[in-house]
Amino acid sequence: MGVLRFDNVSKQYSGGHVALADVSFDVGEGEMLFVTGHSGAGKSTLLKLVHLSERPSRGAVLFAERNLLRVHGRKVALHRRDVGVVFQDHRLLADRTVAENVALPLILRGLRRADIARRVRSALERLGLGERERALPTQLSAGEQQRVGIARAIVGEPRLLVADEPTGNLDPTLSAEIMTLFETLPARGTSVLVASHDLALVRRMRKRVLVLDQGRLVDDIRPEELADE
Ligand code: ADP
Ligand code: ADP
Repeated sequence: MGVLRFDNVSKQYSGGHVALADVSFDVGEGEMLFVTGHSGAGKSTLLKLVHLSERPSRGAVLFAERNLLRVHGRKVALHRRDVGVVFQDHRLLADRTVAENVALPLILRGLRRADIARRVRSALERLGLGERERALPTQLSAGEQQRVGIARAIVGEPRLLVADEPTGNLDPTLSAEIMTLFETLPARGTSVLVASHDLALVRRMRKRVLVLDQGRLVDDIRPEELADE
């Protein structure tokens, strides 16, 4: 059983716009892959179906053994513990320190204080933010802010991390740094699905790439196919 399966998924928004059309794919345990395509191709929508910010119009999304069609109410919050989310604009709380921002998901799930402190410290150290835990987000560089967003997404050790244009506001060097961080996650039990329209960056990573075009999955490129180009 893989970590994620889209089974003939379509999404039509209420305005009538078809954002995804009959999309099917599987993600294996411990896999890292990209979804790419032009603006409006359906990348964000695809990720939103995984963390249940949106629901499919047709078809099913399966997360491990869980059919998301059956996840409602309180179970949505439980599901989201298994899916870390990274946004382009990182969405940090401006009046909380770095450590408080990262602690938030663990506080919400009622972990013990000592446990939270230990996990937050470990996540910040992994992201090279060990010295920044008392800083406020506005005191950080753009790259550091994005790393705090990633620390918050992985602190609960999710089965899957989904990232929507995580390097959209970063220069090429910082973008590469963030991608290198993502690459370390599968070995620690977190699969990674990154949406990016930056084809050059995506190709350099030599991972599997799902290509969306106007809501259709038009290609599923394997790393071997990218190797010699
Ligand atoms: P991408 O992330 O690839 O830019 P999106 O998933 O954001 O693509 O959008 C896919 C299409 O669905 C676009 O045409 C967009 O305008 C439309 N769309 C996205 N969200 C909504 C919404 N909430 N209501 C109506 N249309 C939407
Ligand atoms: P993204 O490209 O990251 O999805 P956008 O700026 O396109 O971000 O969209 C911001 C918000 O507006 C999202 O929640 C998206 O679902 C919604 N949205 C996007 N396109 C449309 C649309 N055509 N009609 C209504 N809502 C939309």
